[in-house]
Amino acid sequence: MQAILKLDVAGQPRGWLSLQEAISAYARGDVIYGIGDPLPPVFGGTQRLTGLRSKLILQPIVALNGRVFDHFTPPLCNRTLFRRDDHRCLYCGDQFPRSELTRDHVVPTSRGGTDKWENVVAACKRCNWLKDCLTPEEANMPLLAIPFKPNSYEWHFLAKDRVLADQMEYLSTQFRADRDWAH
Ligand SMILES: [Zn+2]
Repeated sequence: MQAILKLDVAGQPRGWLSLQEAISAYARGDVIYGIGDPLPPVFGGTQRLTGLRSKLILQPIVALNGRVFDHFTPPLCNRTLFRRDDHRCLYCGDQFPRSELTRDHVVPTSRGGTDKWENVVAACKRCNWLKDCLTPEEANMPLLAIPFKPNSYEWHFLAKDRVLADQMEYLSTQFRADRDWAH
């Protein structure tokens, strides 16, 4: 099912809505504005007075009334992490299916490394095993890219497998340029 990108009134991405959640937001009058080409109409119940079915036109991006939060902390999970790194092992550079990748801590947790975006990369099982509990310098396995914390635009893209063209266009305005998926 296609998801609707939710923005706050300042235009910051704030989550993905199911169609049902988007319909509810329209019904509550919470939608301030929509962006993008209309999706195929959604039909609701038959109205008693007119006998006509209600029809709702949704747009792929909606800005909702509500609080604006300054900070966004992107949740860290392997699925989005591997997509950040383009399913590429950041040590040998080869691409792998998700099931063959692991989350490697650049500075190992046993050495005080933390489990945060800036200290984790996708690594194939072999490289993870070779690196063991060493730093990249000690293992002589330099990183092919610097791990970074996605901003909210990047995270919302990475968190969804299917993103519509209008949503991609909106999100990609705030992508850093140095990743394959940013083009
Ligand atoms: Zn590897």
